[in-house]
Amino acid sequence: MNLTELARRLKITTEQLKDELPRLGFDVGRRAIKIDDTVAEKVVKLWSVRQAKKISQQYVVVERKLDDKAQETKVRQVEIPSRLNPREFAGLLGLPVTNVMAELFKNGVLASINEPIDFETASIIAQDLGFTTVMAKNKANINEIESTLLQDLLQEAAQTATEPRAPVVVVMGHVDHGKTTLLDAIRSTNVAGGESGAITQHIGAYQVEERGRKITFLDTPGHEAFSAMRSRGGRLADVAIIVVAADDGLQPQTLEAIEIAQREKLPFLIAINKIDRETADIERVKKALAEVNLLPEDWGGKTICVPISAKKKIGITELLDMILLLADLEKFQANPNRLAVGTIIEARLDKGEGAIATALVQSGTIKIGDYLIAGEVAGKVRAMRDFKGASVMVAPPSMPVRILGLKQVPKAGDIFRVIEDEKAFREVLRKLPRFQRAIALPEISQADKTDDTPKIITLNVILKADVLGSREAIAASLAQLASSDVAIKVVRTGLGSITEADILQAEASSAIVVGFNVPVLPAAQILAKQKNIFAATYKVIYDLLDEMKRQLNVLLKPELIRNEIGELLVLQVFRRGRGDMIVGARVSKGLVRPATKAVVWRGPEQLVELKLTEIRMGKELVSEVAEGGECGVHLVGQPIIEAGDKLEIYHEEIRQRFI
Ligand code: GDP
Repeated sequence: MNLTELARRLKITTEQLKDELPRLGFDVGRRAIKIDDTVAEKVVKLWSVRQAKKISQQYVVVERKLDDKAQETKVRQVEIPSRLNPREFAGLLGLPVTNVMAELFKNGVLASINEPIDFETASIIAQDLGFTTVMAKNKANINEIESTLLQDLLQEAAQTATEPRAPVVVVMGHVDHGKTTLLDAIRSTNVAGGESGAITQHIGAYQVEERGRKITFLDTPGHEAFSAMRSRGGRLADVAIIVVAADDGLQPQTLEAIEIAQREKLPFLIAINKIDRETADIERVKKALAEVNLLPEDWGGKTICVPISAKKKIGITELLDMILLLADLEKFQANPNRLAVGTIIEARLDKGEGAIATALVQSGTIKIGDYLIAGEVAGKVRAMRDFKGASVMVAPPSMPVRILGLKQVPKAGDIFRVIEDEKAFREVLRKLPRFQRAIALPEISQADKTDDTPKIITLNVILKADVLGSREAIAASLAQLASSDVAIKVVRTGLGSITEADILQAEASSAIVVGFNVPVLPAAQILAKQKNIFAATYKVIYDLLDEMKRQLNVLLKPELIRNEIGELLVLQVFRRGRGDMIVGARVSKGLVRPATKAVVWRGPEQLVELKLTEIRMGKELVSEVAEGGECGVHLVGQPIIEAGDKLEIYHEEIRQRFI
């Protein structure tokens, strides 16, 4: 092949080709005109490889520069939205959520993982963690986009809201005061058509009828109700029932629930439960309410109190009537004639039916065949079921409904909206940004990490606390108490007293039980003693953390520290026993002391390690010989030392480590 032709193939001049050939390892001479075809093929191959390398090298370098730049700006400055929860905040900072929670806790902010904090708080915390902050403008994350969207949509819908809608009620209160029993009692007594027996599956919400009017209940037990009550766009619940056991009075979680309702400006009423009990004392509860500035209505105040027994189903109708009364006062309305918007309250993947999501319609009406977008998930509504499992064709405002037909499973809390037609739907899909769910990054806690790294010794902990805020804050602080060798794994958390069940669970999971602001019940104390399980409770967080540190330190293996203190040159062997020997030596470096270790070197070869037990100068036992000194040393171990060997002398120390 002609060189000119080859040059053309490589898109370079013949002169350039002649320059390049030697660099590629071909010696064809500058005067050559032709080149062997097989050589030419090799040149072509090598050339393309070299070009590719050149490009990829450039690429790598460029990428690094970009990375570096991104790092510089990213690490230091974060854009914080006006409201975000600790999980989202951690995602923004690129830190484990436990670190962020612990930092919040240190600053006295007892926010739970999904509870929003404001810009100012987040900003202070971020600065403490070494970031600079700016208020995020339009570059909002998906939550912000969605919540603004929902707020806008609801606001817009509110202007056309003319039809009354069912109030959405959440039940809150202290553990064991009867929330679940009350939700069950309402469901079983007031479900229209008496089909309650058929309801086996909780879908996150249900609706009952009272005086021909509907009431929607968020069917979420315990403290999870706090997060269930909120949607990304604001409040999902309209009314809260705060359950207080008449025989137990206001307890920490009652106060927490009251505080949350007040903060969220959520109208609430108090259900004084368990009035069937002999020890029930309604007046005492009312007095306690008055003490926290919630003067009961019959005492001239504004707080509605309804005495009930969830177990005996007493006062349920009165309670529902009060809710309707509140609803009349607040005038909950919506426009059923618009495209539906609302919140996903529960979602899961069903083996047979695919993605199923329970949606709570906040405005408009969902119809079969609607095109719907929920968070990042889209789909056509194939079928709908109400909470009893019956097929429905439409879902008006305040109605919880199970939707079938979505392509994937949305997340609880996602906002959904119906798009007018297929064309618009496709358009929206095309425009939907490819959201990066930094906010939904899985939380990697120290405890989780230990699963893959069995070298870490874990201290399993069952944590009980008085309120949700402290429970999460402590769990976060505990996760931080870790070194490369030991870590705490919170195997279970709960609210309320330490019970026998906790001790049994601790036994089953080789855990200890710690409580914060909750008692260890006497029976649990006895059981713990019998089973030799550590169970203790604390009122001060630092005491709790100190105890955990102490327990972790026990698990930490002590450290063996070897300090070389000197070197001996063996001059002469005095005595060679079976398992010991005495040699004469000179301290060639440092110093020597008895009760040390001696590593024997012969030239470049390391032979054995012996114990150096005694040192004598003349006949005297001495405790130390400095550099240049000559002495007789007694060594225990393999008696193989010869004149000329070098002994490296180590002092060993075992030190307890602390995290
Ligand atoms: P939750 O933790 O608030 O959901 O409380 P539960 O509904 O699980 O109730 C805790 C305990 O109190 C259960 O043993 C119920 O049977 C009992 N309980 C609930 N309501 C009543 C009531 O009105 N009267 C009596 N005597 N016991 C009740």
